[in-house]
Amino acid sequence: MKVIDIIKQSDKTIFSFELLPPLKGQNADKLYKTIEELIEFKPKYINLTAHRDEVEYRALPNGLLEKRIVRKRPGTVAIAASIQHKFGVPVVPHIVCGGFTKEETENMLLDLNFLNIKNVLALRGDGLKSEAVFRPEPEGHSHANDLVKQIVELRKGNYLDPELKNNTPLDFCIGVAGYPEKHAESPNPDIDLEYLKQKVDAGADYIVTQLFFDNQKYYDFVDRCRAIGITVPIIPGIKPLALMNQITILPKIFSIDIPEEFAKEVRKCKNNEEARQVGTEWAIMQARDLVANKVPCLHIYTYGITDNTRQIAKAVF
Ligand SMILES: Cc1cc2nc3c(=O)[nH]c(=O)nc-3n(C[C@H](O)[C@H](O)[C@H](O)COP(=O)(O)OP(=O)(O)OC[C@H]3O[C@@H](n4cnc5c(N)ncnc54)[C@H](O)[C@@H]3O)c2cc1C
Repeated sequence: MKVIDIIKQSDKTIFSFELLPPLKGQNADKLYKTIEELIEFKPKYINLTAHRDEVEYRALPNGLLEKRIVRKRPGTVAIAASIQHKFGVPVVPHIVCGGFTKEETENMLLDLNFLNIKNVLALRGDGLKSEAVFRPEPEGHSHANDLVKQIVELRKGNYLDPELKNNTPLDFCIGVAGYPEKHAESPNPDIDLEYLKQKVDAGADYIVTQLFFDNQKYYDFVDRCRAIGITVPIIPGIKPLALMNQITILPKIFSIDIPEEFAKEVRKCKNNEEARQVGTEWAIMQARDLVANKVPCLHIYTYGITDNTRQIAKAVF
């Protein structure tokens, strides 16, 4: 079932969460256990992240550095199908532009279609850590907007090769990312929103937000989206803070602010256990308020940790 139809058919906030595929070399048992621990809260769908190749430099015994291309978390397509089959819950695999050509993306979408996966979250992905700016593959997309356009063409049965005729349309529901506190690379919030609108105008069915700790930032973002004619559902993404040092790490990684009141509480904590409890309580407060304000869905970034996500789900679903 498509996420957009699930949202349209529900008159109250639905629950969903995001997982990462296992690290290369590990099996999927831990991931399945994570889902087993959350399934009682009846998630209506589950997101699964995508990870591009990265460049690593490893020291050789002679002191020289060896450049290696590694993908630390492969398997998004296979694991998405496996979760959907095992738990009977629709899975939304993420698809990134970075590291993939349009042809590879088309083939991945074909695989997803054969595996009966009907939802994707279309993203640009981040640049390589070794590069100051995002660089697309020579035959890849520069922005998520172009990826959305490719998927929309496939919905009509238009594949990349113009010689292919009478093709099966690939009917995907498409989600895209939005940033209540602006994407780090955007010159200003209005320009960021213009590009978000481009993704929606290209055919995206809904938006999932970057994590935030101040609900007012989300409500203002929704208002600003509506004011420029973005009408699709906007799903808030929240992440329970789990470690003390995340009050400095998360702003750097995600270009977000930590509200003073919350930062003050975390800074009083003596260890990670205390910080985790404070983080969970804050996320519960956010979740209760979002549900009271009738958001379509709560998207929880779990990072594979279930105890805090369970507490949040228990408090609101
Ligand atoms: C819900 C969610 C899930 C995510 N999941 C993953 C994941 O699984 N794997 C992963 O690697 N990353 C993931 N990310 C991170 C995401 O890939 C990064 O934030 C990335 O830097 C931007 O992706 P995007 O799709 O928003 O890009 P875009 O929409 O392409 O935007 C990127 C930047 O370019 C600007 N821009 C957009 N269009 C244009 C244009 N046409 N011309 C000029 N500038 C433009 C935007 O304003 C923005 O600053 C996720 C993010 C979110 C919010």
